[in-house]
Amino acid sequence: MRIFVVNCGSSSLKYQLINMETQEVIAKGLAERIGISGSMLKHEPNNGDSIKIEQDMPSHKEALKIVIDALIHKDYGVIKSMDEIGAVGHRVVHAGEKFAYSVVINDEVMDALKECIDLAPLHNPPNILGIEACKELMPGVPMVGVFDTAFHQSMSPYAYIYALPYEYYIKYGVRRYGFHGTSHKYVAERAADILEKDIKELKIVTCHLGNGASITAVKDGKSIDTSMGFTPLEGLAMGTRCGDIDPAICGFLVEKEELNINEVGNILNKKSGVLGISGISSDFRDIEKAATEGNERASLALEVFAHKVKKYIGAYAAVMGGIDAIVFTAGLGENSSSMRENICKGLDFLGLKIDKEKNNTRGKEAIISTDDSTAKILLIPTNEELMIAKDTEELIK
Ligand code: ADP
Repeated sequence: MRIFVVNCGSSSLKYQLINMETQEVIAKGLAERIGISGSMLKHEPNNGDSIKIEQDMPSHKEALKIVIDALIHKDYGVIKSMDEIGAVGHRVVHAGEKFAYSVVINDEVMDALKECIDLAPLHNPPNILGIEACKELMPGVPMVGVFDTAFHQSMSPYAYIYALPYEYYIKYGVRRYGFHGTSHKYVAERAADILEKDIKELKIVTCHLGNGASITAVKDGKSIDTSMGFTPLEGLAMGTRCGDIDPAICGFLVEKEELNINEVGNILNKKSGVLGISGISSDFRDIEKAATEGNERASLALEVFAHKVKKYIGAYAAVMGGIDAIVFTAGLGENSSSMRENICKGLDFLGLKIDKEKNNTRGKEAIISTDDSTAKILLIPTNEELMIAKDTEELIK
């Protein structure tokens, strides 16, 4: 069966067409600048060169039409007709408390996702537009929603309730939800496979370190705590997001800098993290380069980042009663050997010993701990699209 995986952002549509028999990506692509001038589709078939199509895409529906045309195009298409697609898997960011698993999308599910718009005002609306466009252009094809929040629905109340007046949880759903769930679930399951262990017997810490970064304690195959919370702003320091800070800083900045609360929110989301500390970039490659050249604030940004990841690993060891494995994934986690080394430095007391030589790798699955490390350290490239496709296939069978 061929599964079409769709991930819609506010002005973008990312897709992959996956052959489930071989798990091979038949084609993938990205439509950008939807709804603004200069829209463009980059389509990458696996049987030829990538194609750039510059064409107006006033809406996600128009963008999807262009994607479909590319998929079935006589020269650079990869299928003869859309009938060859068995189902569509949609990445949806927020399902609130409604769904702890992926679900087949029906009217009830659509209503539930619309109810979650308040919780993810930037993400759920384009996700919903993507589903609606597919329903119109691919009528009768089953659709599945796979949610970033679902994997973390297994957290206990003591892990997700904020120490705020309880009424805000009841009235507005103010609680910790967690994100990147599809990625954390994928790499935790891969880690169990690679270690040839039953995931139900493992205590795993999964570190998704990209531009957005989060870390999860996975015990018995379930997320029992994670660093992101009500929004993806909580937790680790990130490319541009501040992560955990003293919330009193918000009021302090409002007063001192004469800002309104939205402006402070913008600073915490877009001007903080390693960008804020270094003053250089949100991209870790730029910061690592500057640090090597002696830039002290760049070095400090990297130290702050590593320190926070280390603190969470320690916290999750306490929460789970030990660690059997930690996994590094996403852009930084998969590529930066120095960051992995700095995070793991001093964690011998948890049985975690990184092997310098084995750690000198990037972007492919590897065990990077020493042979005598009692807990394993793994590098596992994430594959959210494959996870979405697998869930989709399973649900429509
Ligand atoms: P997101 O999906 O959150 O945008 P990614 O998982 O794609 O993030 O990660 C992007 C980040 O990964 C970039 O900001 C960059 O800092 C980091 N990164 C990618 N390649 C490398 C590398 N070779 N060395 C260090 N950092 C890298």
